[in-house]
Amino acid sequence: MKRSLFLFLAILLPLAAGAQDTTMTMKRARLLVPRPALEPVKSLIPGQQAPAVDTLETSDPRVMMVLRSDNTWQYVKNADSLLTDAVFRESWSSSVVNPYQVKYDDLPLRITLWLVDSASQYTCPYQTKVFSKFGIRRGRQHQGVDLPYPKGTPVRAAFDGRVRYAARASGYGNLVVIRHANGLETFYGHLSQMDVQVGDWVHNGDVIGLGGSTGRATGPHLHFETRYKGYAFDPQWIIDFESGDLRQGAYVLHRRLLNPSATYVPASEDEEEEIYLTEEQERAEEERIARERAAMRYHTIRSGDTLSGIALKYGTTVNNICKLNNITPKTTLRIGRSIRVK
Ligand SMILES: [Zn+2]
Repeated sequence: MKRSLFLFLAILLPLAAGAQDTTMTMKRARLLVPRPALEPVKSLIPGQQAPAVDTLETSDPRVMMVLRSDNTWQYVKNADSLLTDAVFRESWSSSVVNPYQVKYDDLPLRITLWLVDSASQYTCPYQTKVFSKFGIRRGRQHQGVDLPYPKGTPVRAAFDGRVRYAARASGYGNLVVIRHANGLETFYGHLSQMDVQVGDWVHNGDVIGLGGSTGRATGPHLHFETRYKGYAFDPQWIIDFESGDLRQGAYVLHRRLLNPSATYVPASEDEEEEIYLTEEQERAEEERIARERAAMRYHTIRSGDTLSGIALKYGTTVNNICKLNNITPKTTLRIGRSIRVK
């Protein structure tokens, strides 16, 4: 078929094909395990789709449109463009936690961060109630959120990107920093084990390490930060950690919400009440989480295990296990995987 016909289809059928495209993207995110990746991960699963017959450029040089022999089309990342993209080269350091030296006045007034698109999706790094929030905490600026979990919990990359830092850092313990194509950086602190190296390209959902309490942490928790050009902002503006949902596909970050010294000051007293817990609330929250953590039980999948067998063993139901692990009764149980049973 001629290229012009494909173009015609691509223009006329964006809605129908777009829906299919999303399904493919989600499948891709689960199937591709890029480590150790030496190159940007190409957003294609070989052998699963009709052969590509043509590629078209889009208005974004980092995204291409691939036309297939079965008349479908799909957006894919342009791996060559990612390799030369300035965002992955400028202010790039594997030894400095924050290599940016951007003056506050040089930041744009508004920064639109495209968080997901049809070629790249999102995964919650770890879903739970936020234990300690972003902001002033006992007189010091807390630059991220703390998400408590049992030691050894897999930590997942929130978005596609490239590992910029993977080493010990003072205050963070073992720290992984991933830079994303939109300029955003995500920080994952206190890890007990780091499964990625500087330079690795990761997909959202890839396990980048295991949770722990390295550094100054009191108990196992993920310290998660979002920064733009070194300026930390509250990750809860973009992620609802309790539901695991991304709040919006694109987030407009206003410069006025970033403090010149990266110290966020709420606009009003009322806002502060909402954002920060009192010492008393924080203690109560600490106790609640400690109780919850003590009650958690995990099971490591062995050969021959079935969900109903596991449910019976721990006196629970298949439904409960599915809910706790965000899986379905049909999910394949990989041997060695640890699932929460209580
Ligand atoms: Zn923290």
